[in-house]
Amino acid sequence: MKPEDAWLATLGQLQLQLHRSTYDTWLRDSKFLSYEDKTFTIRVRNGYTKDWLEQKLYRAIRHTMCSVFREQVEIKFVVQTRPQRELGDGSFDTAYDPDAQSGGWSAYRASEEARQYSSIYVNEPPPANDWNPQLNSAYTFENFVVGPSNQMAQAAAYAVSVNPGQVYNPLYIYGNSGLGKTHLLQAIGNACFQRGLKVLYATSEQFMNGLVEAIRGKTTSDFRDYYRGVDVLLIDDVQFMAGKDSTQEEFFHTFNALREQGKQVVIASDRRPQAIKGLDDRLRSRFEWGLQVEILTPSYETRLAILNDKSEMKGHALPHEIAHLIASYTYASIRDLEGTLTQILAYKTLMGNHLTIETTERILAEKRGDMAIPNALPRHDVMAIKRQISLNDVLQATARFYQLSLDDILSKRRTKDVSYIRQLAIYLAREETQASWPEIGDAFGGRNHSTMVHGYKKVAEEMETNLDMRREIEDLRKHIHQAAV
Ligand code: ADP
Ligand code: MG
Repeated sequence: MKPEDAWLATLGQLQLQLHRSTYDTWLRDSKFLSYEDKTFTIRVRNGYTKDWLEQKLYRAIRHTMCSVFREQVEIKFVVQTRPQRELGDGSFDTAYDPDAQSGGWSAYRASEEARQYSSIYVNEPPPANDWNPQLNSAYTFENFVVGPSNQMAQAAAYAVSVNPGQVYNPLYIYGNSGLGKTHLLQAIGNACFQRGLKVLYATSEQFMNGLVEAIRGKTTSDFRDYYRGVDVLLIDDVQFMAGKDSTQEEFFHTFNALREQGKQVVIASDRRPQAIKGLDDRLRSRFEWGLQVEILTPSYETRLAILNDKSEMKGHALPHEIAHLIASYTYASIRDLEGTLTQILAYKTLMGNHLTIETTERILAEKRGDMAIPNALPRHDVMAIKRQISLNDVLQATARFYQLSLDDILSKRRTKDVSYIRQLAIYLAREETQASWPEIGDAFGGRNHSTMVHGYKKVAEEMETNLDMRREIEDLRKHIHQAAV
């Protein structure tokens, strides 16, 4: 197979494997450039895409590529730097672009890309004017950690930030409190503002208060110009508009005016539009026009990545065992996870950087006692959070149930009682958590895989006939669930 055809075939397969928005955002515009020394060189649209492909999708792409090409190959992504001649009006001469000439990319797209590239990566200051977009520059795509729980939302948000008004309009992001909705809204805003677009972020309360004030001060037409004159409007926590009729009426017209001009609207909410009681039907149907994406609670791996990222940002390196310990708890939100980390890092500084597993465990246990589940969560969500049991939950609860120390359970001691209890705990670790065998082995003091599986099977078999054992396991299981909130 010719290398060029192999790349096209790989793209075809990836299109089937990946979510559509992921494919469209990162791979659609890629181009085969050359094949040499078992390395494919692929051109991608900008530096951000290159980073993304290398960091997040490289393995998937290479795996597909090797199976299509039937050879072990490497892939190199490049951003083709082409000579750019700036024209007097700040746009770029696009005559160099072969695609533009052959009618592929429009000259507009090319100049847009050049502009975007230059402003993001050369740090060109945004155009000076008095406009205040109400953004917090701390929230960016670069510091947003992506995992299965938020991947779709992140990809959609990124796609919107690259092509505002053209891909998903409106983009509607929903999920429980503290999972990153505002972060993504702001990241879209920051990316677009950097490129000189007129961006405005407002919570629905700010929108409502502005309206009330405008009505009182007889300045409603200024209010309308303000909200309807932007390129990108980001409205946060839209659920607060429910039941507020004149606010919804006004927002409905704002929305229509922006959409008619092809401007981008992005909305965040704690639930899907269908679940907001008191939301105007007309607004609800507008929200359904675009794309709705949900953010879920992060998995263990994502929690770990977030912890490492955030502690690094704060200038601390967390030892792996400690990061693992913190991440193995379940949290109602990333905000709680961050709060816990802040507390632990503060303690670390206080203690002159000496942070032990025991201290971390104690802080976590204390923190846990008062870590309330947000009231706003519907009942079933509380249950969902409760049901996510971690290995640490199993260990802690087992120790407490039998009044043993964690060390007793993790030790290699083989007294009859302790090893029996240990086996019950291993059985429940497998049954009640999402953990893999190696993870379970690690959590139980570095025991090997086959010992774990063997112990599990023994308990499972004995339970068939041993009623006492079954009852005991049920009690322990209940205890683990009660303890894990
Ligand atoms: P929401 O608006 O959904 O209630 P936020 O966007 O305010 O949540 O997020 C809460 C905190 O968690 C913020 O400090 C945010 O930066 C952080 N956060 C959320 N998701 C991520 C993520 N994927 N990567 C890094 N930080 C995150
Ligand atoms: Mg928010």
